[in-house]
Amino acid sequence: MPITKTEKIWMDGALVDWDDATIHVLTHSLHYGCGVFEGIRAYETERGPAVFRLTPHIRRLFRSAKIFMIDIPFTEDQIVEAVKDTVRASGLSSCYIRPLVYLGYGEMGLNPLPCPVQVSVAVWPWGAYLGDDGIANGVSMKISSWQRHGVNAMPPAAKGTGMYINSSMAKIEAIKAGYDEAILLSPQGYVSECTGENIFIVKDEVIYTPPVSAGALEGITQDSVRTIARDLGIEYREANLVRSDLYTAEEGFLSGTAAEVVPIRAVDDREIGEPGPVTRRIQEVFHDAVRGKVDQYKDWNEHV
Ligand code: PMP
Repeated sequence: MPITKTEKIWMDGALVDWDDATIHVLTHSLHYGCGVFEGIRAYETERGPAVFRLTPHIRRLFRSAKIFMIDIPFTEDQIVEAVKDTVRASGLSSCYIRPLVYLGYGEMGLNPLPCPVQVSVAVWPWGAYLGDDGIANGVSMKISSWQRHGVNAMPPAAKGTGMYINSSMAKIEAIKAGYDEAILLSPQGYVSECTGENIFIVKDEVIYTPPVSAGALEGITQDSVRTIARDLGIEYREANLVRSDLYTAEEGFLSGTAAEVVPIRAVDDREIGEPGPVTRRIQEVFHDAVRGKVDQYKDWNEHV
């Protein structure tokens, strides 16, 4: 789906016209992939557009930057305001939001420290990342031949731009083989996550998701799923999972800002089946919470 153009993009402190949000070809991050970013969504609520858990997303952006020793020349509050300004300027009631921190034009070479740190925030309308049919009926998954980063090769806790190369290769491999999405294992062989989503299975009414030590990014949607599950009285555990746990799961689903909560229909051609009751319940509450319809989660809706 091509990106739909909106009015303005926030660049280094000011809103500029969409078409003017350009950079030099010798931008450092373009060459070595040293940048960090976030993916956030704003939803229409009764009280106008609200960014879902904006503050935790911006905190994660700053944690990612810290890991890469990127010193963001703005405060967290300033980036929170930049996101709100960009959403407001778009006039959209719901949108996807992409804050990006990158190293600009300055010096070339592998030492990134002398490069200027630049920040942009773009917003545009973006529907269900894995499709409406995926949300309704589930997606088919393939365990990738590509692994998730080992913790000492690339830090999985950082949402770094260059870290998505193997996610992209896994995605290509899955799509070319006729599946919707890929699952990556850790170098130790445990289930880690999907190309841009966390993964969950259900067995005996307990939700299991891999721990951070298996290389998954700490998802903000995953954290919302945990809270929703516990509030619904559904047991939620972090546990190391192996591929056969996926094949024999009673239910499976994935979560991410772009994808939202999506049932897993099959893994490596082993049918899991129709979306199950636990998945449906979590999906329903999440769907309402992002739209400001659940009183106990109203502080998740950060109004612009
Ligand atoms: N894992 C990876 C690798 C991701 O890129 C994402 C998307 N940010 C997630 C998990 C899910 O995180 P979140 O729910 O915060 O979007």
